[in-house]
Amino acid sequence: MPARRAAKPLQHDRTHDYAHLIRRWRAACRTRGLRLSAYSEVSGYPLFVAETRRPRADRPWVYLSAGIHGDESAATEGALAWLTQTRLGFDAFNLLAFPCLNPWGLVNNSRLDAEGRDLNRTYHDPGIPPTGAHLARLHDRRFDLALTLHEDYDATGIYIYEVKGPTPHWAEQLIDAARPHVPADTRRSIEGRAARNGVVRRKLDPALMPHFPEAFTLHFHHAARTFTVETPSEAGIDARVAAQVAVIERAVRLCLAERRS
Ligand SMILES: [Zn+2]
Repeated sequence: MPARRAAKPLQHDRTHDYAHLIRRWRAACRTRGLRLSAYSEVSGYPLFVAETRRPRADRPWVYLSAGIHGDESAATEGALAWLTQTRLGFDAFNLLAFPCLNPWGLVNNSRLDAEGRDLNRTYHDPGIPPTGAHLARLHDRRFDLALTLHEDYDATGIYIYEVKGPTPHWAEQLIDAARPHVPADTRRSIEGRAARNGVVRRKLDPALMPHFPEAFTLHFHHAARTFTVETPSEAGIDARVAAQVAVIERAVRLCLAERRS
């Protein structure tokens, strides 16, 4: 009887292997003309940022981050998959991207960091080392578009937080882009906020949450448009990654179109 050949490994079966993630980012950055560099270290893991090598002042800036919650692997995989799959020319926009803000969490499949903190509630406090290093990289930079990628175990489909800002709003179009892969979340209330067809839109007030999520800092100091993308953790990984890719792609295209108009 012939030996059974080992099944081909699934594309996403190493989603919690940080070194593997960074190796793939390095290769993708080479292809896309981005510089990948370590900007700090936390719990024994280097933290990386990818950046357009020669940014052009007349091009929009796009910000992308993933992996602040380590148990949301379609976020880290989605950012990388977008980078490798997008048909957009990388001379059309400038990019600053954080592949994984919580490597210890990714490796340990944990929402929290090694100190038991939810880093997405620490952006009011630059004294917390990984957050301080991240904030230092943001410094006084301005972005036309900021996307922070997440997942949610309670989600019934994809949903998106859009900080109330410039009109027309984009979240409905971003949900539409993801729809071939995952449906929109059907809940009318998400985390205590009114939701409609997967869109949670709100004005941000610093008093709303004294422990700042990353999106608050982006909105208050850095970005014209800020979105938090949440795919449903219970859906298949390939569909979740495809949904993240579709949202990023549509958002960057909308950003380019807005700049042209
Ligand atoms: Zn999250």
